[in-house]
Amino acid sequence: MSPAPVFVVTGPSGAGKGTLIRMLVERIPVLEVAISATTRPLRPGERDGVEYHFLDEEDFGGRIEEGAFLEHVEYVSGKRYGTLRSEIDRVADDGRICVLELELDGALRVQQDVPGSVTLFIAAPVEELERRLRERATESTGEIGDRIDLARRQLEQAHRFRYMVRNDDVARATGSLCAIVERELAFAATLSPS
Ligand code: 5GP
Repeated sequence: MSPAPVFVVTGPSGAGKGTLIRMLVERIPVLEVAISATTRPLRPGERDGVEYHFLDEEDFGGRIEEGAFLEHVEYVSGKRYGTLRSEIDRVADDGRICVLELELDGALRVQQDVPGSVTLFIAAPVEELERRLRERATESTGEIGDRIDLARRQLEQAHRFRYMVRNDDVARATGSLCAIVERELAFAATLSPS
């Protein structure tokens, strides 16, 4: 049997991945977002086990040793992020289709290692990324600067992913994303025995 698709949404910080994913999952309820692990501190309003599994360095390192991660990276300011294999299994056990929100290196890793993965790069103009990050104001000024520098370099990598969706209009971008996912799901269904 061919593997169920895994949708990987990537793109620079501030491109609106989180908002688009929320709208996507609302419109296509078979999708479920896997909860990543991270060593970054909680932002106001975030809860452990909801937005992320918030781990300390030692716990995260121990899980790397155990091979618990499908992929993991060190992002800006030395903070770690990773996809737990147990999360992918949990979503599959629920009978749902997994969506991952990953930065670029993690997305490339999954694209390479996971058969049936479908990568979607969310792009937005640099000025827009900068405005959103400053508006969100959840990071220090230095960290926002680092994220913007990284975002510029990341925008040049869009061609490495299967699809690119430009998010200069949320409604339009959501429509494009949903159309791609529905088409991929319909295609995957033709490959599975009924
Ligand atoms: P934030 O700190 O803004 O929540 O996330 C920072 C970046 O880490 C975002 O680009 C987000 O997509 C990415 N990210 C979140 N979880 C994971 C993960 O499990 N693996 C990887 N590679 N990136 C992740």
